Amino acid sequence: MIQVIDKSFEVFITKDEIQQEILSLAAKINDDYRDKDLVFLSVLNGAFMFTSDLMKNISLDCEVSFVKMSSYSGVESRGRVDELIGLGDNIAGRDIIIVEDIVDTGITIDKIISLLEPEGVASVRVCTLLYKPDAFKGTKRPDYIGFSIPNAFVVGYGLDYNEKGRNLDTIYQIREQKKQRNSMLNIVLFGPPGAGKGTQSERLIEQYGLIHLSTGDIFRANIKGETELGVLAKTYIDKGQLVPDEVTINMLKAEVGKHDNPQGFIFDGFPRTIAQAEALDVYLESIGTGITSMISLDVAEDELKARLANRAKTGGRPDDANPDVIQNRIDVYRKETSPVKNYYETQEKWVMIDGLGTIDEITVRLFAAVNAL
Ligand code: AMP
Repeated sequence: MIQVIDKSFEVFITKDEIQQEILSLAAKINDDYRDKDLVFLSVLNGAFMFTSDLMKNISLDCEVSFVKMSSYSGVESRGRVDELIGLGDNIAGRDIIIVEDIVDTGITIDKIISLLEPEGVASVRVCTLLYKPDAFKGTKRPDYIGFSIPNAFVVGYGLDYNEKGRNLDTIYQIREQKKQRNSMLNIVLFGPPGAGKGTQSERLIEQYGLIHLSTGDIFRANIKGETELGVLAKTYIDKGQLVPDEVTINMLKAEVGKHDNPQGFIFDGFPRTIAQAEALDVYLESIGTGITSMISLDVAEDELKARLANRAKTGGRPDDANPDVIQNRIDVYRKETSPVKNYYETQEKWVMIDGLGTIDEITVRLFAAVNAL
């Protein structure tokens, strides 16, 4: 890796690869122009190094000139006027190869060709070390191409970043500035009871290899196992109230700590209070990670009630069967849990997606939101 001014670059094309490619370009040109009267027009500044190495391998009886594109404001005409500086009187009736370090949009090459045509040249071809097909918008595709490269910023071997880096013998590519987050993907899946958090979590686990931590599920497992925690939690859950923060937070930390090197977590049903959100941040930071995003599933209240009533028939959850408990859970969500959204919103980590529609439709929205993180 190298640093040019304020940017980091990594090796893209080594000097050996460049020299190897130049040998084959030169061999083709030597072959194609064996009996021709050839003038190379090298375009300054970028092509100086490429031209120099290329010429050492050209065995033809040829001429080499250097030109520079310039554009200035005309005195009478509006707009810019293009000029080719350094063009001698040696090109009329001659075969020309324009030598470029890089062709990206192709606009410069088109301009140069349009300026050469009135000079009565016999033919014009373009030889470039680098070519960016994805950026190309011109009419004259290069005839001799060293390397076709993706549309990324490159420096070295004649190419500059703010005039620096031309002297490097290797071509470097700018390093992608990755978003500032560690490699774990930690998602808080948020939404009122019945929003579909459990169902969508299953899809996220499969797609992104995450570990699903649902505090509701953990409480239910404890209730079933008749543990001390389960007995305590049941008194709250049966009424649709929240289990006290201290109990819930300690339980969650213990669950997170059970996993070695996870790719990330989906927190489902947690945090439900600001105190829980703060405790989670402190804990995740202590293990070198943090919340990537809170994704909120937005569903209208009537739809929620209908879904919960439906789930009561198959899900085996007593808290889904009682309309008073359902209402209380929704009220608790509005009053105590909704503020958690603001907590993540102020950290610019809150994303809302429409939770209405088929399970598949919601999954598509959810994956799009995760992919954009
Ligand atoms: P859920 O399965 O997420 O709908 O949770 C069912 C019940 O478990 C809730 O109504 C609460 O009583 C309790 N519970 C689940 N998660 C939490 C939490 N983070 N904080 C407090 N209570 C919770």
